[in-house]
Amino acid sequence: GALPGWDQVERLVHAAHERCRAHDGGQVADYIPVLAEVDPGLFGVVVADSGGEVHAVGDADVEFSVQSISKAFVYALVCEAYGHQEVLERVGVNNTGLAFNSVMAVELNDGHPRNPMVNAGALATTALMPGATPAEQWENVRTGLSRFAGRQLELDGVVYRSEAETNMRNKAIARLLESYGRIRTDPLEVVDVYTRQCALRVSARDLAVMGATLADGGVNPVTGERVVSAQVCRDTLAVLASTGMYESSGEWLFEIGLPAKSGVSGGIVAVAPGKGAIGTFSPLLDPAGNSVRGQRATAYLSRALGLNLFASS
Ligand code: GLN
Repeated sequence: GALPGWDQVERLVHAAHERCRAHDGGQVADYIPVLAEVDPGLFGVVVADSGGEVHAVGDADVEFSVQSISKAFVYALVCEAYGHQEVLERVGVNNTGLAFNSVMAVELNDGHPRNPMVNAGALATTALMPGATPAEQWENVRTGLSRFAGRQLELDGVVYRSEAETNMRNKAIARLLESYGRIRTDPLEVVDVYTRQCALRVSARDLAVMGATLADGGVNPVTGERVVSAQVCRDTLAVLASTGMYESSGEWLFEIGLPAKSGVSGGIVAVAPGKGAIGTFSPLLDPAGNSVRGQRATAYLSRALGLNLFASS
């Protein structure tokens, strides 16, 4: 693979887990009621390289809802379907500097959703998913993300229903986008597909393989299947670098130097282009909504494996 030898990577993944597991700072998300019931001690760390080797330590196979990490992969699927220019115009790529579920960010910009990693832009992106009906769009989301993971991903019905009962804000954002002519299909159907996409069950191992597919120019290094083009991976990783870690995206890039995406259930995927990806899971979050142990473990591995994109050696 493109990383140091197998033994060394294996040792470093164990070291990352060992060093970070004692940290118990942060809070579990509770704005989706059922997420508050998770065990805060869960912690998994996985590295997948672009040659298909996988190193997994801790709770690497515990499943959780993918949440906002889905935005990165749905964006890639939509870029594959529509191309660089159209998605750039309709969804945008600039950071809002505001919370991921901000309504103000939409209002301040003539209803333009700004970027695909905030909820407004993610809803606008999901609205573009290929499919003649919402049911077909959802099936295309599920099978598309499953191809990134290299296995069949399933809906977490409990998380889906919990969020569907409490997502008034996403419905409001979708209606606001509709009022500006930015969503052309039924906005509540778009929210439903988006809520399902957020409730797909993944593990830290899945996140690492999904990230390694972006690192590998769109070919899943475990299954060998091409999921998206190399150009789509480049576009997706550029967006993740500037907007993937909520309001902390600048600090993250400064400290860790890798495109990454986090979600409120505690997952993080960080991608080293041409080399591989790191998938972590730990539900305790910092105030921006990023996993505390996951950030620390990724920072350690980025440094130890020499992955920072901006480092000359
Ligand atoms: N499903 C969540 C929402 O739409 C995802 C948020 C997240 O992970 N940041 O609010």
